[in-house]
Amino acid sequence: MEIKNMKTKHTNLQDTAIKDIETKDTEIKDTEIKAAKIKNAVRFETCVCCHKQLPIPVDEPIDYRAFYVEGAGQLCYDCYHKIYK
Ligand SMILES: [Zn+2]
Repeated sequence: MEIKNMKTKHTNLQDTAIKDIETKDTEIKDTEIKAAKIKNAVRFETCVCCHKQLPIPVDEPIDYRAFYVEGAGQLCYDCYHKIYK
């Protein structure tokens, strides 16, 4: 009797876990689709100084960007060298 009870509990737990994973998976997919839609609308950074569009995707981490100034924003090559020479 004890063993049977344990088995039932175990199955229930597994069911719950699977349901949880399925729900989370669907949520993640939704988020990804939303992110993709946003990506299509906004694509590249612009220079905060001259407003020229730059070949830097908006989702590019700032650590990997060239001419990004913390507190100011993204600059283009020309503006960066005008300001910081
Ligand atoms: Zn500029």
